[in-house]
Amino acid sequence: MRTKKDMIGSWLLEDNRHHLESLWKQADDIRRESTESAVHLRGLIEFSNECVRSCTYCGLRCQNRCLPRYRMTLPHIMACAEIAHAKGYGSVVLQSGEDQRVSAEWIGEIIRQIKDTYPLAVTLSVGERPVEDYRLWREKGADRYLLRFETSDDTLYRRLHPHDRSGLRRRIELLHVLRALGYEIGSGNIVGLPGQSFMSLAEDILIFSSLDLDMIGIGPYIPHPDTPLGREDIDFCQKDNRQVPNSDIMARKVLAITRLVCPEANIPVTTAFATANTNGYEIGLHTGANVIMPALTPPDYRKLYDIYPSPARKMEEGVHERIMTAIYAAGRKPGCGPGNRSRKSAVQ
Ligand code: SF4
Repeated sequence: MRTKKDMIGSWLLEDNRHHLESLWKQADDIRRESTESAVHLRGLIEFSNECVRSCTYCGLRCQNRCLPRYRMTLPHIMACAEIAHAKGYGSVVLQSGEDQRVSAEWIGEIIRQIKDTYPLAVTLSVGERPVEDYRLWREKGADRYLLRFETSDDTLYRRLHPHDRSGLRRRIELLHVLRALGYEIGSGNIVGLPGQSFMSLAEDILIFSSLDLDMIGIGPYIPHPDTPLGREDIDFCQKDNRQVPNSDIMARKVLAITRLVCPEANIPVTTAFATANTNGYEIGLHTGANVIMPALTPPDYRKLYDIYPSPARKMEEGVHERIMTAIYAAGRKPGCGPGNRSRKSAVQ
């Protein structure tokens, strides 16, 4: 008997154009039935590009000495929150590298000021921190926490994080801790990592489901030339189907299948997805996505938040307008309010 994992694996390997059209349609239909039709906007504030880690794919890794570092001040961050509110976004995402020099209290103060000033939900994405920090931030009013596991393949995970002794298991444990503290939890993966197999990618999607994630971020692997992984010569076009390609179509398949398996989750069109696809926002919205995260980081900082090379990341103006155009072109409207995860099945 075919298992769910086999079914996911077959879709991942599907190349027939007509079959894929039916996959996009199924994902869009399920999204329509299971979530609000509005597209929720989360204003992304990348407040620090300092990081103590050395993930082998990421341009923010501490060994990348070419990258100028920055850390925004609290008034700067509040100015971004003001823009989010003025544009009608329902939430902000405070994101940084693992910057151990910002104290839990300082982040707690940002959360408190935002929550006291604006009716915004606050999502944190600042990596692995002590549980006491997560507890403090929840007490200050943080609503959601994003912590990607990147890949469910433990061997590959260790290649991505060579100095991380605790491994993938710890990251999954932390997601459970965050859930128990009352956060909405989000995670995600990278599609087409060197050495990633189709079955491990299918396992990623099963883990999204088993964790009952509220938010799931999916993006293709985009090599960064100043990283160890980005300098490797990978044949993404291997014909034996063992290496997952890092193509736009592959990321689109993962997005669509994830919507089928996790119907109620909030699934954004990630910046990486939008970078890899021309008309990425429209394509994502037609393939099961229901969230977009426009960057509010001031341009001088934004170009230094260099996780991977992205022309979209360096665009200084018009991002909000382009996103609005994409939303209306997809026949949808921008959402209002915090845009919490749907729980339609829970009230039946
Ligand atoms: S992926 Fe995150 S933790 Fe790893 S180097 Fe980049 S910013 Fe730091």
